[in-house]
Order: sequence, then C-alpha cells, then structure tokens
Amino acid sequence: MNNNQQKKESENCFKIDFHEEFPILKSITYLDNSSTTQKPQVVLEAMNEYYTKYCANVHRGLYPQAEQATQVFEEAHQTVAQFIGAEADEIIFTSGTTESINLLAQLLGKTLQPGDEIVLSIMEHHSNLVPWQQIAKEKKAQLKYINLTKDYHLDLNEAKKIISKKTKIVSITHMSNVLGTINPVKELTAMAHKVGALIIIDAAQSTPHLKLNVKELSCDFLAFSGHKLCGPTGIGVLYGKKRLLQDLEPSKLGGGMIKEVTLQNSTWAGLPAKFEAGTPNIAGALGLAAAIKYLQKIGLKNIEKQELSLTKYALDKLKTISGLKIIGPPNNKGRGAVISFTIKNAHPHDVAEILARENIAIRAGHHCAMPLHTSLNIEGTSRMSFYFYNTTKNIDAAIKALHKVNRIFQ
Ligand code: PLP
Repeated sequence: MNNNQQKKESENCFKIDFHEEFPILKSITYLDNSSTTQKPQVVLEAMNEYYTKYCANVHRGLYPQAEQATQVFEEAHQTVAQFIGAEADEIIFTSGTTESINLLAQLLGKTLQPGDEIVLSIMEHHSNLVPWQQIAKEKKAQLKYINLTKDYHLDLNEAKKIISKKTKIVSITHMSNVLGTINPVKELTAMAHKVGALIIIDAAQSTPHLKLNVKELSCDFLAFSGHKLCGPTGIGVLYGKKRLLQDLEPSKLGGGMIKEVTLQNSTWAGLPAKFEAGTPNIAGALGLAAAIKYLQKIGLKNIEKQELSLTKYALDKLKTISGLKIIGPPNNKGRGAVISFTIKNAHPHDVAEILARENIAIRAGHHCAMPLHTSLNIEGTSRMSFYFYNTTKNIDAAIKALHKVNRIFQ
C-alpha cells in the first residue's frame, strides 16, 4: 500500500461518525468491549434483510429465496476465510469460541492416550481450560500450564521446557481477556510443531483488533466469536487446516452433514458441511460477514492504531490514581486494549457499580479466568476494554469516576 492510500485509509477511519452507526453510544460510555461489542446498523440490516426478503433454509430448497440464502451463506464462509487468510472450506460456523474449542476437545480428545500431555497457559479463559480438563480426566492425559513472567507476559523459557515429546496439544489464547497480554503465537506454534504437537489458538480477543493470517501463523486450528467484532451473538468460527479437518471424524451428527445414509451406515459430506450438522445460524453468519466487511472498510491497521493510542492514554492516566494497580503489562508493548486493575480496599464489584451509576460500563470479577486470578492471589479485578469507536473523552469520564472511587476507599 502506498503512502497516499495509507493516508486515505487512516482519514477514513476518523471521518466516520460512529454515533450514527452505533446509536447506543450516545447514551452510555461503553468500555466493556472484551465482553461483547456494539453492533453497527449494517450488521442489523444484513440480518433483517435475510429475515424479511429471502428467509429460507440453506442447502435444501430449489426456489429463488432458498438459492439466495444458500449463496449468501456460502459467501459468508468466503468472507471469513479471506479475513483470516484461510480457504472457505476451512471455515466451520459454530455458536462461538466456546463451542469451537469444545468441538475440538471432542474431536482431538479421541486421539489421546494415557500419559499424553495438553499444554495451556495460566491466563486461559475457562472456555479454553474446562473442556481440556474434562478430556484430560477422561483420557488420563496430563494438563500442563505455562506461567507468567513478573511483567505479565507468558514465560517462554518455561514454555520451551514444558512443551515436550509427550505434548500432543497446545491450546493458547492469542490475547488475554484479563491482562491484555498478546502472546507470541508464532513462536509457540514453532515449539509445538517441533515436537509434533497440534496447536490451537483462542483468538476470541485478538481477531477483533489485530490483522491475522492463519497461514502466516501456521497454526493448526483457530477459534473466535462474531459478537466480539461487531457481529451478532450466537455465531463463531472454527478454522482448521484442511488436511486435519479431512482426517477428523465429525462428532455432531444429523442433517446437512452427510453424503449418503443407509439403514446401517452413513458417509460424510465434504468440508465444511461435515462439521455443520443441522440448520445453521444463517442470519448470524450473514451478520458476521457484514461485520467483517465493516471492519475491513475501517481498516484493521487503523483499528489497531486507534486502540494503541487509547490504551497508552488510559495507562498513563490510570498511573496517576494512587491506590490503583494495573494487572497486566504496564505499557503498550505486547498488549492490547484491555486494562484490568485493582483499587486498594475497594471490591471490584463496588468499582464497577460506582462507575455504572455514572453511566460507564466496565466489567468486574474473575472474567472467566479464575485460575489466573488465584495464581495472582487476587479475588477479582475491574476491567476496561476499548474498541475503535471509543474516544479519549470516554476514558476521561472513567478516570474521573475512578479518582472518586479511590477517594472513597482510601
Ligand atoms: N476466550 C477468550 C479469551 C475470551 O475472552 C472469551 C470470551 O470472553 C471466550 C474465549 C469465550 O467466548 P464466547 O463466550 O463468545 O464463546
């Protein structure tokens, strides 16, 4: 991309009036984007158009509406594939990251033997921990966890020791939903592949914010959720390398995923249908495709740039609050737009409650990462998380309220 194009792209980003696309932002300071993001009108319109103009099931009917629904649903696979540098038949629609990882745990779990090892990190969301815990119990496999360095990054020296010939699966978050830490997944992929293990990337927190390419990362599987990148809830993605998906047996069985069924036997459809049994979330898939196109119009690089500047701004301001401790990397290096913190003497729920009274939405608690909080010896944290539509004005409002909380509890 030449300089002029780059400039144009960045001007585009800041020319958009986000209040028009996201009317809800007029009435709330929304800093809970790691939980879910707001939805632009184009996403709602795409779903509404399907329901009002060509609502029909996919891969079945021969009438025009059914053909249109099938075509647009197939195009949604292509849009997602192009977004992460994959091929359309490597994209399986699921209900979200949680279902994608559960599906993988079922599929890959079948191949595990007693004594095999599954490597996770201590910063995993429960969605990338509990399914592996259950499979490990069933298969008498061992779970191993990579710990943190003192500045809240993954301890890669420890990773090198833990990932061994016994490792069969490495499943790691790309970006922590608590610490904001961005993990070096390319390096971890190389470590896993060196010992013949498969690597899964939980990209729930990274796909909304970073330009990803699964071929460049060379990961075997990757999971993410539509609702965290301006798409609807109830739709998500499991990417898998084609040759791996081809070799795996489906675990969800029924309509839409078969080639031929006799009374005693069935054969499977090709990819991705083999793993998409039953009527899919068609409107969700179309909404997700519309969200991706919307993000691409703004430009992932612009999103990243805007969020980095918001994060730096917020980190600098937060450091001026005496009782506040940032739980995560203290500066912009190797981190995303998620900032968790504690305030001395204040329960995280009280912090969130006081901010809620000022119409500021943040989250408090263990953020579905109890083992991480336990390892840090804290009960919970308060968390602000930004998206491209946030402004320094939003952060100023939160900082002002946090100063107030700090005064109350010190
Ligand atoms: N993994 C991470 C890192 C997350 O932050 C989340 C949700 O917050 C999930 C997995 C689960 O995503 P979902 O609830 O959309 O399935």
